[in-house]
Amino acid sequence: MNHHLPEAFCSRMKQMLGEKEYEQFLQSYDSPREFGLRVNTEKISCEELTHLLPFSLTKIPWVDNGYSYKEEARPGRNPCYQAGLYYLQEPSAMTPASRIPITPGDYVLDMCAAPGGKATALGARLKGQGLLVANDISASRCRALLRNIELFGITNALVTNEPPLRLAEYFPEFFHKIVLDAPCSGEGMFRKEESMAADWTPEKSRELAQVQRSLILLAADMLRPGGMLLYSTCTFAPEEDEGTIAYLLENRPEMEIMDITPYEGFSPGVPAWGNGDTRLEKCVRIFPHRMNGEGHFLSLLRKPGTAASGSCAPRVRLPKEGEKLVKEFLKETGISCIGGRSLNTAPIEARGEKVYLLPPVSLNVRGITFLRNGVYLGDLKKGRFEPSQPFALALRRDECRAVLCLKQTDERILRYLKGETLTVEPEETSVRKGWVLVTVEGYPLGWGKLVKAALKNKYPPGWRCV
Ligand code: SAM
Repeated sequence: MNHHLPEAFCSRMKQMLGEKEYEQFLQSYDSPREFGLRVNTEKISCEELTHLLPFSLTKIPWVDNGYSYKEEARPGRNPCYQAGLYYLQEPSAMTPASRIPITPGDYVLDMCAAPGGKATALGARLKGQGLLVANDISASRCRALLRNIELFGITNALVTNEPPLRLAEYFPEFFHKIVLDAPCSGEGMFRKEESMAADWTPEKSRELAQVQRSLILLAADMLRPGGMLLYSTCTFAPEEDEGTIAYLLENRPEMEIMDITPYEGFSPGVPAWGNGDTRLEKCVRIFPHRMNGEGHFLSLLRKPGTAASGSCAPRVRLPKEGEKLVKEFLKETGISCIGGRSLNTAPIEARGEKVYLLPPVSLNVRGITFLRNGVYLGDLKKGRFEPSQPFALALRRDECRAVLCLKQTDERILRYLKGETLTVEPEETSVRKGWVLVTVEGYPLGWGKLVKAALKNKYPPGWRCV
């Protein structure tokens, strides 16, 4: 066996599974880890993406928009990745977000969101309506979170960097849905990342169980009546899994535990691993020897009552001159919607020279540490508006008239993503000069500026990754 597993972990797993099944569990460490991608159905349908990609995908049977691929496919190098058409995620990690019902218009919180594996899934399902608050306590991890939210083209996200206790002060009984993908001992990831096994100790697991207990009570308090909470970890540790849910049920007895849409490989929670409460059977654990995924745990809970719907944001006005410049740009490029949201009614505001499209929900963000509220659209420069990279990525296919549509086999795509100037034939673009949206097979990648036959590259240096 290639993996070195901590002894105390092995003996606890043997106790949990029994001798015979423990052997099967150990054998799972000899098979390769799973690779998966989740389709951004806000930008492309699963059918279209499977036709578009030059490598084969196999449907993950328990996640609607989830697929697995062979390691050598390297989907991170395909330009469709830079267009935000999918997120790379191990199959089990797709499960939590797929098991909480999301209705466009909901106010949704992802409490521990970085780098965005669950938040991008939740945001896509909101379809630009309602609000996604994507929070993480770590400032550096928040930057990766923001990048992924921008890649996905989510227009209604507030990306915050706060300890959950502070969030709870701002948002008492505010959210319709909350995902708490808690910091955990990561036992389920030992096959994927061996370094996690090296760092593991029973004490760490105990400490994290305390953190999880405080986080889950805060989550329950931020839920409005009728709201739902999805708790998840990537560990097998009973103390962190059933133990945390049992603690919530003891301390917030009004909370109800819900059934989770089943799949044949899911294992039920074990009451005896918590406090004996038989409702814990409704939790789900994913074992790598019982299905094709790494270890995970999830539980869906509900606060009784009826969820009232939220309010809409009033239209914020730009300064007159700024409004004129933005309007000129929109007219020149033929843009009237961003991510399905009409710009006639959307709240747009300027802070200094920066212009933002706000989420469609009225929110007082004063005092909250946040990286982004909505979409950063671009900058007001002397006498002109310069669109941003997140603006390009928030546009859906066909939302911009001024486009250069490149086939994925066109060698200019790679050159564009490297920041080079491109040569363009007159019949390739609908405009003769000015701002042009560069697309791969119609899906936006970024901006360029056409001057005669040359397309000046506006793909920002910080986004270039090839
Ligand atoms: N949900 C993310 C995803 O799917 O990409 C993964 C989240 S990861 C399992 C847990 C996150 O919790 C980390 O990003 C970490 O920064 C954050 N975290 C650690 N300690 C925390 C605490 N005390 N309160 C809130 N978040 C914490």
